[in-house]
Amino acid sequence: MNTIRIPNGYNLNLGGRPSADVESLPEPARLALVPEHIPFVKPRLSVAVDQTVQLGAPLMEDKRNASVRFLSPGAGRIAEINFGPRRVIQEIVIERDAKEEPVMFERITESELETIPRDRLIDAILTGGLWPLIRELPYRDYARMDTAPPLIIVSLGSLEPFQPLPQVYLAGKETLFEYGLKALRRLAPQVHVCAPATGNSLPSRLSTLVTLRYAGRYPAHDPGVILYRIKKSAELNRAWYIAGQDVLLLAHLLKTGTYPTERNIVLAGPAAATRKHFLTRLGVPLAAITGGRTKDANLRHIQGGVLTGFTGSDGTYLGFFESAVNLLPEGNRKGELLGLFRPGFRRPSYSRAFASKLSKAELVYDCNIHGGDRACIACGYCAQVCPVDIFPQFAYKAVLAGEVEESLEHGLLDCVECGLCSYVCPSKIELAQTLRKARADYYIEQSKV
Ligand code: SF4
Ligand code: SF4
Repeated sequence: MNTIRIPNGYNLNLGGRPSADVESLPEPARLALVPEHIPFVKPRLSVAVDQTVQLGAPLMEDKRNASVRFLSPGAGRIAEINFGPRRVIQEIVIERDAKEEPVMFERITESELETIPRDRLIDAILTGGLWPLIRELPYRDYARMDTAPPLIIVSLGSLEPFQPLPQVYLAGKETLFEYGLKALRRLAPQVHVCAPATGNSLPSRLSTLVTLRYAGRYPAHDPGVILYRIKKSAELNRAWYIAGQDVLLLAHLLKTGTYPTERNIVLAGPAAATRKHFLTRLGVPLAAITGGRTKDANLRHIQGGVLTGFTGSDGTYLGFFESAVNLLPEGNRKGELLGLFRPGFRRPSYSRAFASKLSKAELVYDCNIHGGDRACIACGYCAQVCPVDIFPQFAYKAVLAGEVEESLEHGLLDCVECGLCSYVCPSKIELAQTLRKARADYYIEQSKV
């Protein structure tokens, strides 16, 4: 098995990590599908308020490709369909019935998997509403099903400090995971199961399935970074990827013929009073996870990665792709601004100007940006941490100048949207956010979606 060394990156040594303990949450009364943060999808509703739905009934489809459907995570009544600005669908809320009737889909046995035609397998995943879990690099839209990719990357674990641990979500699910990998091997000639080279305590049965180890700092686990380091031809640029936990969902769907609802998520971060894994359902209200488990009234919810996630509140629901809820103190801006002028161990800093760079202690992270916007001071930190060798400041300037070709030459398409460049920038320039939007705009224009 190969181990690849990934240079650059940054060790996110942040306090507030989850333990490996798991608690099962009670069944929530309401669940929701949250289309808002599913990239590129243009939702078309398949239901109306007050309609009753079975578990796994279609709630919406993508206008760009109607075979890509999103299904109901529970059975019951459509209680609300909430819209945001410009009539963007924010949530489709289901009030659950006590007894849930599931839609039954095709079941595929393990031996059938050996010979099943690829098209039939794709149909089964599309009909079962899980196709969007398989995503395509470099843009991270759901995979195009018309041609086989050269490779699928399955990423086990994350160097994000507040994400579910594979040894937790895979415990007792080894057979299901192996079945899921078999299904993926019908979709692509090569499947790489990737895990960290150290610090990963996968059960030995699962360790034998790992085909590629990576050694490096955040975001060395990212499929885009792994691909950047292993690709030998331009053809590999459009590899697919799927998260380890999502392989279990896919396997459950195909093996049982029912839409999977179980999700292992973590609650973590410095403002969480309880930091551990929770066994719950897709689309659960955030309040069911955070209720009574916070330390601080003035906090921010982040779903997803600490540098890449989106903010929510107790009144919202777990996103379709998400498996982490991080609680961060909002911070006291007035007090924290003083931090610009004095060394501190408690706040993250990349610059050697701060003693925290030298400390091994975990850092406390909050939502302050620690200083106002300033012009680029050409320090080069953003390029030093970029895991895919971009000079973010040059790509950023090219984007602002509308020079698309130049931004591509600076590596815009290799960007994995890890957020590190913005994180380390002492001038607090929104490099990652700008590059992310530029990539999305370029993709939309190219694919004419
Ligand atoms: S340019 Fe992209 S890949 Fe590089 S550090 Fe910034 S967000 Fe990460
Ligand atoms: S980190 Fe910020 S200030 Fe430093 S070179 Fe990059 S953009 Fe400029």
